[in-house]
Amino acid sequence: MPAKIIDGNKIAKSILENIKNKVKNMKEKPGLALVLVGNNPASEVYVNFKEKDSKEAGFYCERYNLSEETSEIDLLKLIGDLNQKESLHGILVQLPLPSHIDEKLIINSILPHKDVDGFTPLSLGNLICENMILAPATARAVIYLVESTGVRIEGKNAVVLGRSNIVGKPTAMMLLERNATVTICHSKTKYLAGYTKKADILVVAVGKQNLIRKDMVKEGAVVIDVGINRVNGKLVGDVDFENVKEVAGYITPVPGGVGPMTRAMLMDNTLKAMGLSKKI
Ligand code: NDP
Repeated sequence: MPAKIIDGNKIAKSILENIKNKVKNMKEKPGLALVLVGNNPASEVYVNFKEKDSKEAGFYCERYNLSEETSEIDLLKLIGDLNQKESLHGILVQLPLPSHIDEKLIINSILPHKDVDGFTPLSLGNLICENMILAPATARAVIYLVESTGVRIEGKNAVVLGRSNIVGKPTAMMLLERNATVTICHSKTKYLAGYTKKADILVVAVGKQNLIRKDMVKEGAVVIDVGINRVNGKLVGDVDFENVKEVAGYITPVPGGVGPMTRAMLMDNTLKAMGLSKKI
């Protein structure tokens, strides 16, 4: 039987609708700062989406479009100002930054309770200590999508492909926290199929089209494709969707899977951040 397609668009829409309804009744609105440095067209598209989502959710939004030549010190000053502003509960700095700017330095300058991307070392450390403040949105999206299938994570073999600090590692930690037995694979993993074939839950976050073929997937597995690849002007994931869906139990499409859910989780993190600001 072909896999059930997990509709990320539909789930994200209902999450955003829920947020919108909550915000409607709030006197003070969640505030989000969006910072874009330079003219990377893909980054501009992502920031446009985030601005649209936050406005639709009823948030207060400030957008900063800075030139490619912005200095590191000027960007640090801006983050310092945004950290101090009480009307702003979340700060999103769009990555990648121009090469003359130290990304880690900039991300680390965001106050942890305003780090709605969940990328600062403190946020990631909290995740490992199971003391979650704001977890990275894509990892939250993956967990939400797996849980939406009704498949229990506890006791399952989960295999995560990719070990970046923003996707692979936090996703693996969140699966571990939910009592899966987790394996992390990366570019140096030998005989990848030996691991993927055993996965009840397979999360692929690499950025290589068709990395995962039908013969690498266990029958009935939950397959979450995080990858985004641009091929001939079209977006595709890392999984050979058409063939893998013949063996998987559940599968996310690209586009329409993890992408819209990541956006929804960013808005949810902003709402959470507002709650955190009241406790500080
Ligand atoms: P990175 O480039 O930071 O990490 C890629 C990871 O894939 C690395 O850990 C790398 O291993 C691993 N890798 C490379 N080749 C292989 C291979 N042949 N087999 C197994 N693992 C391999 O990317 P990100 O984590 O930032 O993003 C991953 C993908 O997810 C990208 O396509 C990105 O565009 C997409 N993405 C999608 C989002 C969404 O909302 N849908 C959000 C964020 C990212 P090593 O560490 O050894 O180099």
